[in-house]
Amino acid sequence: MNTISLTIPEIHELARRCLLHNGCDAANAEAIATTVSTAERDGSYSHGLFRVPGYVASLRSGKVNGKANPQAKLITPAIVRMDGDNGYTPLAIQRGVPILADAAQQIGIAAMGITNTYHFAALWPETEALAERGLVGLACTAYKPTVAPHGAKKPLFGTNPLSFAWPRPGQTPLVFDMATSAKALGDVQIAARDGHQVPLGTGLDPDGNPTTDPAKIANGGVLLPFGGYKGSAIAMMVELLCAGMVGERFSFEAAKVDNNDGGPAGGGEFLLAMSPAIMAGPDWAAHAEGFFAELTGLEGVRLPGQRRHENRLSEAPRPINAELVEKIRTLYD
Ligand code: NDP
Repeated sequence: MNTISLTIPEIHELARRCLLHNGCDAANAEAIATTVSTAERDGSYSHGLFRVPGYVASLRSGKVNGKANPQAKLITPAIVRMDGDNGYTPLAIQRGVPILADAAQQIGIAAMGITNTYHFAALWPETEALAERGLVGLACTAYKPTVAPHGAKKPLFGTNPLSFAWPRPGQTPLVFDMATSAKALGDVQIAARDGHQVPLGTGLDPDGNPTTDPAKIANGGVLLPFGGYKGSAIAMMVELLCAGMVGERFSFEAAKVDNNDGGPAGGGEFLLAMSPAIMAGPDWAAHAEGFFAELTGLEGVRLPGQRRHENRLSEAPRPINAELVEKIRTLYD
């Protein structure tokens, strides 16, 4: 793979210019470009520049509102409803997380449902933002049906990511952020593009047979949930939280109205914020640090999020797929 070295500000500017040229206003372009460039900074490759052509496709088709003005409403002291105004999620998250955090800090727990939105990113930015405010964060969203429930050969679930963050005062939070499919669709698409195989158990080919060929999974096949029936249950829970609970579309409903323009399908996101200080009392952080010391003291263990947080420390330019950079430039030149 040919690569081009780009600094994080160059990545941000590449994304921002492209989004502005294709119908985003300044606030949305800035919020999405920040999501894209922090993904590249941390090594979340499947949700960085790789997603820009998809963002553009849905702006060009008119499916997504590039000038969305997301508005939050406190339905009760603990429930925030954020209307995404048919736009991409980064601006809704940027505006909604502080409101959600304030509510949780006052009464101990609060939830936010984002509706009328298009999620095309990783979830750790929102759970980390809650943890940086001293809160435990949980977030999940759905996608179009791409994953066959355990036992089935046809898709019903999205790749349905789930992220959890635990605050660690004075250091980066503990965060996991994972698709509930055996692999994220973006990673399967990248493996297909780069000619790599994927492990057996990742998905089925268009005839319903297990395969290691990512192109067969991405083109007409299906992904499988991680961990068999257990991962399948968690993927089902994600559908219920971000669709049933929030009052938005389930993956199968989103697919029925999507125009298949290459961007994400519309839907919702569920976020939960909880205060360990209110629930466990003032010793909560030291108590949890004792647990982390035991955990990381075990040979072979590393904390989820650690790889990303180590990547984040480097200010060096990042090697980006040259073909991708060229493709993005042609979208605004
Ligand atoms: P990975 O399988 O790469 O990683 C999942 C989690 O496990 C990460 O938190 C990772 O931490 C951690 N981890 C990985 N290896 C280890 C290890 N050896 N020990 C301990 N922890 C480990 O992620 P996925 O491919 O499942 O998901 C990638 C991204 O795709 C996510 O950010 C997700 O939100 C996003 N996504 C978004 C969708 C959307 O519709 N918006 C749909 C589906 C996925 P670390 O990052 O530090 O490696």
